[in-house]
Amino acid sequence: MHVLITGGAGFIGSHLAEHHLALGDKVYVVDNLSTGSLANLKPFRGNPALRFAEADILRWDGLSEAVAWADRIYHMAAVVGVKKVLEDPVSVIATNMSGTERILRAVHHGGWNPQVIVASTSEVYGFNPKDSFAETDNIVLPSAGRLRWTYAVTKLADEFLAFSYARKYGLNIVVVRLFNTIGPNQVGHYGMVVPSFIKQAVHNEPITVYGDGEQTRSFCDVRDTVVALDRLAGCPAAWGEVVNVGNAQEISIRGLAELIVQCAHSTSPLRFISYKDAYGEEFEDVTHRRPVLDKLRTLTGFTPEWTLTDTLNDLIERECAKNLYVA
Ligand code: UDP
Repeated sequence: MHVLITGGAGFIGSHLAEHHLALGDKVYVVDNLSTGSLANLKPFRGNPALRFAEADILRWDGLSEAVAWADRIYHMAAVVGVKKVLEDPVSVIATNMSGTERILRAVHHGGWNPQVIVASTSEVYGFNPKDSFAETDNIVLPSAGRLRWTYAVTKLADEFLAFSYARKYGLNIVVVRLFNTIGPNQVGHYGMVVPSFIKQAVHNEPITVYGDGEQTRSFCDVRDTVVALDRLAGCPAAWGEVVNVGNAQEISIRGLAELIVQCAHSTSPLRFISYKDAYGEEFEDVTHRRPVLDKLRTLTGFTPEWTLTDTLNDLIERECAKNLYVA
């Protein structure tokens, strides 16, 4: 199979590349290396099945050719990370919306009907007060704190773009709402909690818990995520649908900090930091986030294999090895 991955040097994209190379597929990665990194593709450098283009999805002149070549497209190119979004909402909107429209237009004009995954996010559920979110649940976005919701709004627009193209032109598109994904290659620079906490714990530095730490998240290992995305893309019943992808195991951020300290045998204390100090402005955090995964299971039979503790232990081991190597 020919697989095109936009944002393929990024965190999830590079794991998709690894997954498909291991299956013997040909993989074409396009990435502008803004948040992605060539280091994520280093293990496959020299593999003749991998092709890489450094380009911005908004301007890439190889797009039509690549789309016409592809049997499957994972559209992962996006500006992500709460801090990055707050810093530069203009480029978030351009990349996340115009980029997606450009891809979908190319697919429509390609005269060929590849399987397409469009990445959306659990952020779109916003402040829905339910304990866990199913795909049919309401989108509840507050009108205050507008820029904080830029990411969610752009991804929601992407969802509607995808549904419109799927309906009007019969394209084989699946929209996936990704719930907090973690794993190797994820970096903490843009606010992601797990890589930040792991680095702090391994260096015995204070763990920076934002707010009171009672907010919850459900973390899914990226090596599970890519299996789910692969199955969904190839599942005709999923085309034209939106599907949650994640792991329903939920933990508070304080609990996560304590678990990481324990797994890393660290002496780090927890340091509680106000949202204002953390994000530099009034910030409304989502208090809990857990996916209902019935639709994913029914469509694909998928269940995650990685437990949170297994993932954390693996990431801690990698962080320790990195430091040994540097020393
Ligand atoms: N968070 C934290 N300390 C950090 C980074 C993040 O306590 O150093 C919190 C953040 O406020 C949020 C949770 O961890 O409640 C998850 O944050 P992340 O940015 O990883 O994902 P998202 O907010 O998109 O779920």
